[in-house]
Amino acid sequence: MKLKNARGMLTVMPDAAVLVDPDQTIVAVNHRAADLFRTDASNLEGASLDILIPELSVAAHREHVAHFFSRPARRSMGTGLRFHGRRADGSNLPVDIMLNRLIVESSTYVIAVIRDDSERLAMEVMKKQLEAANVRLAKAQDAGGLAWWEVDLTTNRMIWSTTMPRILGINGHTPPSLEAVRDLCVPEDRDHFDSLHRDMRSNSGKKVTFRLRNCHGHIRWLEESVHVETGGTVLGVMRDVTGQKVLEEKLRTESVTDELTGLFNRKQFNHDLKSNYSEFVRSRFNSAIIMYDFDHFKNINDSYGHAMGDRVLSQVATLVRDQLRPSDRAYRLGGEEFAILLRGFSTDDAWTLADRIRRAIEAVRFKLGDTRASVTVSVGIARFRDSDSNYEDSLRRADEALYQSKANSRNTISILE
Ligand code: GH3
Ligand code: MG
Ligand code: MG
Repeated sequence: MKLKNARGMLTVMPDAAVLVDPDQTIVAVNHRAADLFRTDASNLEGASLDILIPELSVAAHREHVAHFFSRPARRSMGTGLRFHGRRADGSNLPVDIMLNRLIVESSTYVIAVIRDDSERLAMEVMKKQLEAANVRLAKAQDAGGLAWWEVDLTTNRMIWSTTMPRILGINGHTPPSLEAVRDLCVPEDRDHFDSLHRDMRSNSGKKVTFRLRNCHGHIRWLEESVHVETGGTVLGVMRDVTGQKVLEEKLRTESVTDELTGLFNRKQFNHDLKSNYSEFVRSRFNSAIIMYDFDHFKNINDSYGHAMGDRVLSQVATLVRDQLRPSDRAYRLGGEEFAILLRGFSTDDAWTLADRIRRAIEAVRFKLGDTRASVTVSVGIARFRDSDSNYEDSLRRADEALYQSKANSRNTISILE
């Protein structure tokens, strides 16, 4: 090929190209190459190829080109060595170079096709950053018990995060579907679950909390919200809130429980009595109140110490609880005064139960120090009356009945119908 033709070839090439002789002198460049290096072709032609290479890379680049002259093999763009080019203004740019051998007037020349690689390099950096961000996000999702799903409303195609199966406690290969979540949902919460998913378009931003039973049989609390996105997709975000729920429940229980005996406290007693009274007003369904107070309890403390007194209160609480049906509740109203609420009990039934408890308490021999001691309780029983104007009226009668028992030599039961 004639040199003239080689130059012509360069001008029609779609990429920046440089024709180099075996001395690594630039013989010709096309205008794309001149533009890429921000100079005129006349400044490059006749110059050493080194002019296009950053100083630090010149030696390595010369070696690379010399090696190609000795063993010319076509190397495609985007593979192998990456170099930086040096523009006329001294700035560097990442380039990808493809070398092609060309015989010009019986000598071996090289055409270097040069592509600006900065965009691809920037993409690679971004891709790496994105991958790292995804790893961090996955870790954060895991730590926060977070998962997401996305559904295309037109095709119903669904994808979900790798944390979804983990949160649901199911196999990681389970195909994403809301049905799979619904199947795990406890039956009592399914209506609630459905209310969010039935018409997701109009539920955007709404949130529900529901329970599911995972593959280990454990109950987990999940909070889920849906968000309608542009383009007809819906994003669902799920959060495992079991820890929070357990804590809430613990705090709620603690707020209505007496610490020493584990029985319900006066706050819960008032709440339950009020609720039973409302039921009585509504439907005449009556409840019995048993109140009991330890007899001469001061003597127990005085003789054996306060800690022993505590032990007696706590043991008797267990004894009483063991005598009750699951629907009955026992309370510590304060000090050594206690109560039991019995839904649907007549005063006779209440008396029978109270007497069984009274005798059981009397029969216990508490080991107090070196001796064994016994305690007794006085009991008062009352029920709601048609004439009552509020729940406290019945409570006053139970208290009065208890006072009668105290007055009546203690360790006995009195009823105020
Ligand atoms: P009564 O038969 O008239 O009820 O006599 P009592 O001694 O039981 O009644 P009083 O009201 O005079 O005294 C109640 C005692 O119960 C005094 C108090 O120190 C004791 N007590 C109240 N709460 C507790 C408690 O939580 N632990 C212990 N160990 N003693 C308590
Ligand atoms: Mg007492
Ligand atoms: Mg008392």
